[in-house]
Amino acid sequence: MAVDTSTHFARTLQSQADPLNGALVRADFPVLNQEPRAGGQRLAFLDSAASSQKPQVVIDALTAYYERYNANIHRGVYELSEIATAHYEESRKRVARFINARSAGECVFVRNTTEAINLVAQSWGRANIGAGDLIVFTTMEHHSNIVPWQLLAEETGARLGHVRITPEGRLDRDHYAELLAQEPKLVAFTHVSNSLGTVNPARQMIAQAHAAGAVTVLDGAQSVPHLTVDVQDLDCDFLAFSGHKMLGPMGAGILYGKKPLLDAMPPFLGGGSMIRKVTLDRTTWADVPAKFEAGTPAVGDAITLGVAMDYLDGLGLDRVWQHEQDLVTYALDRMRDVPGLTVYGPQDATDRSGVISFALGEVHPHDVAAILDEDNVAVRAGHHCTQPLMAALYVIATTRASFYVYNDHDDVDRLVESIQRVADVFR
Ligand code: PLP
Repeated sequence: MAVDTSTHFARTLQSQADPLNGALVRADFPVLNQEPRAGGQRLAFLDSAASSQKPQVVIDALTAYYERYNANIHRGVYELSEIATAHYEESRKRVARFINARSAGECVFVRNTTEAINLVAQSWGRANIGAGDLIVFTTMEHHSNIVPWQLLAEETGARLGHVRITPEGRLDRDHYAELLAQEPKLVAFTHVSNSLGTVNPARQMIAQAHAAGAVTVLDGAQSVPHLTVDVQDLDCDFLAFSGHKMLGPMGAGILYGKKPLLDAMPPFLGGGSMIRKVTLDRTTWADVPAKFEAGTPAVGDAITLGVAMDYLDGLGLDRVWQHEQDLVTYALDRMRDVPGLTVYGPQDATDRSGVISFALGEVHPHDVAAILDEDNVAVRAGHHCTQPLMAALYVIATTRASFYVYNDHDDVDRLVESIQRVADVFR
């Protein structure tokens, strides 16, 4: 029985020569094509930084897995298990191609970015970090790139250093250089800020960290879904990202690590699948990546992540990035006309992703989001799991709109008109 998951293409694929057409792409996403609430407009979904919607091909691939070849993988000496195993390992190869890893063995399936970073902290960290060692991260990190290092520091007695941000919401590169001069063992930072949209100069920062003798962890949760991330070009030691933010299902994410590092690291979780030989006294480990995939993985989700990557490749990552640049430029332009509106982070689209955090005078961000919801405009309000960044901005929370492949100028118009309505309500 052969099940082919390799032939999924967007129903609305356009010529790669044309700019991406968000409205056409939207046709592939069932959630976005539902009947609007009575008398309302269609959903303007502007919360993809939290989790993206899924195209029909991804939903179909997940259904196909459960309908046609659901079985536990590896070691099953029957056809269904062999098919599931083949698709799981094929998906790993697609992941490797997507980020240009040297081999599929450098790509470990995990649940999400959070698990990937915790894996590095607990495995590489415990083996390599000792009392007094310096771990550097930045003020703009998501909590999942802060808390694991704090836990590690508490356990080992390591020190923590935090790169400050500039008033414009970029990393203070002078401060970064000062911290590097103290020869940290590890440097962890986000490629793209989930709260400000700032795109950090990852390649240069990684080169600087290496020159200072540090191992680097790049949080790719907000970059891998939106722009071409090439791990060999960036030269990062580890890269973490989540499938659910890039059109894939919840339940599958990736830890990329350079093979020599992964080979040398002890396991993170112990149990089935990650072993070579177990006796009552002692266990030896399987090779990577199996060493880090203890227990039954999310097989269907991992397979379907590969399909989501195919879909994104079909759209073309360069076009995806251009599309988001176009949307954010248009949005920043229109938002400037709303009196009392503050946009956080870089003020133009240069080195900025399709994420816009804003405040409307004294109106509470949750009230803004609630009124936008009345207009069927879905945005997020809160600290976005970046409380230290909020403290650096002297705010408790912001309202955040984030764009992706299925958004267009009409969504931006809806956002701005709805914000204008909030301003009128509170005037
Ligand atoms: N890092 C960044 C920059 C994020 O934006 C997020 C999620 O919003 C995460 C890490 C955590 O991702 P997950 O919840 O999928 O583990």
